[in-house]
Amino acid sequence: MSSNPRPTASNGAPASRGAIAVVVVLLLALVWGGKQYAMPDFVACPDCGGRGIASCGAPGCEHGEVDCPGTCLRASSPGWQKMNVRGHSADELWVRFVHDDGSWVAWNDRHKGEVIEKVEGRWVNRGRCPVCQGKTRVACAKCQGKVACERCAGRGRLRTWL
Ligand SMILES: [Zn+2]
Ligand SMILES: [Zn+2]
Ligand SMILES: [Zn+2]
Repeated sequence: MSSNPRPTASNGAPASRGAIAVVVVLLLALVWGGKQYAMPDFVACPDCGGRGIASCGAPGCEHGEVDCPGTCLRASSPGWQKMNVRGHSADELWVRFVHDDGSWVAWNDRHKGEVIEKVEGRWVNRGRCPVCQGKTRVACAKCQGKVACERCAGRGRLRTWL
């Protein structure tokens, strides 16, 4: 038995297996290649910064949010300035709070969303703002963030083609 290689049969099977393999590879190439062409690319919508929410026109409303009405430190707080603080980059921004005795303390922008309060003449950090949960922005009372961006129809992204 082992001396008979039966060339016809042994040639036939590998040939068809090879053909199947070629077809599979071609199909995979088609699927993969098709994906490259058929899948659209998206970019963040420049009108809404990728949020899909537009401003309603109310004062201060940006993307359906307004500045926190609380007392947290935020981008709109007055007095942001660069300072030379040991162990910190000269590019960091700080806000200085002067105590009643004339000395002062400063917090940098990593403390945005934290409440800085004066207690018995001295400024203290009370931690995360309970009004905005430390986000420094709250939902706009007029639109509640429900005005969809027109350009991206509220999706927050745009196709780069079609
Ligand atoms: Zn948009
Ligand atoms: Zn609004
Ligand atoms: Zn706040």
